[in-house]
Amino acid sequence: MAKKRLIILGSTGSIGTQALDVVRCARDRFDVVGLAANTNTVLLQKQAHEFGVEKTVATQGRNERMVELIEAVPAEVVLVAVSGTAGLAPILAAIRAGRDIALANKEALVMAGDAIMNEARKAGVRIIPVDSEHSAIFQCLHSVKKEDVEKIILTCSGGTFRGKTRDELTRVTAEEALRHPTWNMGRKITIDSATLVNKGFELIEAHHLFGFDYDRIEVKLHPQSRVHGMVQLKDGNTLMHMAPPDMRIPIHYALHYPNRVPLPPDFQIAPYDPTVNTTLEFFEPDHETFPGIKLALEAARQGGLTPALFTLANDRAVQDFLDGRIGFLDIYDRLREALREPRADRTLSVDNIMDLITSAW
Ligand code: NDP
Ligand code: MG
Repeated sequence: MAKKRLIILGSTGSIGTQALDVVRCARDRFDVVGLAANTNTVLLQKQAHEFGVEKTVATQGRNERMVELIEAVPAEVVLVAVSGTAGLAPILAAIRAGRDIALANKEALVMAGDAIMNEARKAGVRIIPVDSEHSAIFQCLHSVKKEDVEKIILTCSGGTFRGKTRDELTRVTAEEALRHPTWNMGRKITIDSATLVNKGFELIEAHHLFGFDYDRIEVKLHPQSRVHGMVQLKDGNTLMHMAPPDMRIPIHYALHYPNRVPLPPDFQIAPYDPTVNTTLEFFEPDHETFPGIKLALEAARQGGLTPALFTLANDRAVQDFLDGRIGFLDIYDRLREALREPRADRTLSVDNIMDLITSAW
């Protein structure tokens, strides 16, 4: 079998390093031909050496360097695992170059989902979700026709502060927020999980990836993080996807797609055992205390440039919270401000979104 030529953007991050764990166990199937990170040149060089990578870039914030990498190096798949707004330019470049995309970055779809999906359709490029909930829905949808689907349900762990009151949230710190109960992820997404903004982004991501209206996508809180998504059919059947909460599973699935390949024994991931994980609970999220989903949906409803402004405001607010400059609840205030910002003068175009990203930092 010919090896799949793979570029990994964000190789030094949480998803990127786990993707390399997947590749390390399947060297006969993958050829890593390009790697990109932001500033972590030490790890980047180490990875390049281990995997014999042709071309690496440390962008130092210059996203066009990822675009140059994609244009210069032929590949079948580009894994986009950079965090935040940096994902947009390389995703569009990968589509234009006709490369399939394994997509972990969700911010780009939130900002410019219509443009990305339209371009991908035109170019015949596949977008294979890496995000666990979307991987779950993607897999469930394989066996059904879209017109037979009533709705899709994404699950949500509830984040680090699930069950806390508003009053308690006035005192929480970034350090506490980073201790996620079930998932081990990068810093930014861990805070987004705590605010539930991540789940709001995931709703928007699901809308673009699978083409369902917002009133047919729901979120249910599921503290055990064993069920990642459900597809309810009009004929009374519900398909449920389950897996241990370990990102190497959806990464492994996306990179090997369309093949199904056994998990490497080295991962030591025990399959779901219903006699061990006996409790599976589902609740409505607490939208009053954690308004992240509602605010993100409001951004999507306003449309135009608002989701992009919202995403940028969130990027900055999360960074400020991590740096101790603002409190946890102030993140929501920043997001409400972004929703009020009048931008009627600017129409939605990828160029305008790119301008916003460039001028934002
Ligand atoms: P991390 O913060 O752990 O890693 C981010 C990676 O992106 C690093 O390699 C970083 O490089 C790189 N990067 C950031 N900005 C740039 C830039 N301008 N140019 C080049 N490289 C850049 O993030 P995660 O791995 O947690 O998340 C990545 C994406 O995947 C996010 O969009 C997140 O929402 C999504 N995701 C993550 C999940 C998880 O479990 N972690 C689950 C589902 C989705 P450097 O190390 O040099 O800073
Ligand atoms: Mg997710």
